[in-house]
Amino acid sequence: MQTFQVHSRIRPVWQRLSGRPVYIWGAGQQGRGMGRVLERQGVRLQGYLDSSPQLQGRSALGYPISRPETILQPPIPNGKPFVIVASFFFEKDIMARCRAAGLKAGLDFISYKDLKPFDYAIDISGACNLRCLSCPRATRSHRHPPAGFMTPGVFTQVLDKILDEDPLVGNLQLYQWGEPLLNPHLPEILGLANARGLPCALSSNLNSTSHLEPVIAAGPAWFRISVSGTGKDYERTHTGASWAKLLKNMETLAELRARLRPDMKTEVYYHLYRHNRDGSLDEVRRLCERFEFELHPVWAYLISLDDVLEYLEGGELTPQAAEASGMLALGLEQGMALARQEIRKKCLVDRCIHVNWNLTVSNCMMFFYPQDNIAATNFLETPLEEILTTRVKSSLCRRCRAQALHRYCNVYNTEQIEGAAA
Ligand code: SF4
Ligand code: SF4
Repeated sequence: MQTFQVHSRIRPVWQRLSGRPVYIWGAGQQGRGMGRVLERQGVRLQGYLDSSPQLQGRSALGYPISRPETILQPPIPNGKPFVIVASFFFEKDIMARCRAAGLKAGLDFISYKDLKPFDYAIDISGACNLRCLSCPRATRSHRHPPAGFMTPGVFTQVLDKILDEDPLVGNLQLYQWGEPLLNPHLPEILGLANARGLPCALSSNLNSTSHLEPVIAAGPAWFRISVSGTGKDYERTHTGASWAKLLKNMETLAELRARLRPDMKTEVYYHLYRHNRDGSLDEVRRLCERFEFELHPVWAYLISLDDVLEYLEGGELTPQAAEASGMLALGLEQGMALARQEIRKKCLVDRCIHVNWNLTVSNCMMFFYPQDNIAATNFLETPLEEILTTRVKSSLCRRCRAQALHRYCNVYNTEQIEGAAA
């Protein structure tokens, strides 16, 4: 079975951790998931490292979060550390710092991806209350997947199958193309995952909060709020949202976190366009300081990839996607020019298993429309090995790689954009 072979292949990597003080660098979604994997494998975790001053001195899953310098500068406590790098955005930088401190790649530090072959996104909500400009939900409703919500009973079966097939599962992302807070069963779903030791991540537009208190009480490990500017600018790109409502709900969330879940990592994911990089960003920074949220600015790009692939294959962008494209700091053509330079590099999302609320499994989580994007019609009835085989052979992946689209999102996560967008 392919899953078993994958896990056999990485067993020697796991053996390198034996007898070493183990640290996870990155106390976010992946880091917390990795912590649970270590616990289940009987590896003692020394603690977390994180460069964010807002996290230092706090804890994650009960382990202390320290400054990276704690183990990079002598005197180093407890002998030579083994560092697991668990950061999607800053992996390259962190590894460079490890190298500079005399740690050796592979022997003293590795990526979490080398220990945990798959990530899981379970879209428990197949609906959203907004129609953001750059989102495929804004247009072509006839091509949308069916709307609905995963029930706790079905979620339980999904959890059991994942744990049965993949003992190295760490964390669960409970969103991709839907607003998770709309699912009325969310508190129960979080409770079910926590009972099995699987920390959950939520990402929300925070405009609909009818049951926010029971949700926070149920204990998501990680809560992201998606923001793109302030006032009317925000309402233009987060189409259908209300800035006033968002502000009020951020305040409520801060109060609930302080009272119920002080350990919940809470971040504002700020989408940078041409027009919202200065004053609006400063305003959101002040809000984050007030609410003690982390601020994570990221360059906006066109997502899903459905529109982009159709455009690259000779089609037209929808008016909404064209409008959003014109607002990007790094335009679609420039982004694709950078992606083409990386055409030989690997895809970074093919390790993610994306299960939709109705149990269909996507070939790729970056595509929204179901056409040409279904690897299995029922996750519960399809072995992981079969899903992986179908995905590898999918025509969607072939078309995507032929255009270098598998590297498109990645070029926006690097420093390349700084110079290109200036
Ligand atoms: S980007 Fe997110 S919040 Fe906006 S419409 Fe799409 S799914 Fe909803
Ligand atoms: S190659 Fe493209 S379609 Fe396939 S998983 Fe990667 S990003 Fe998705």
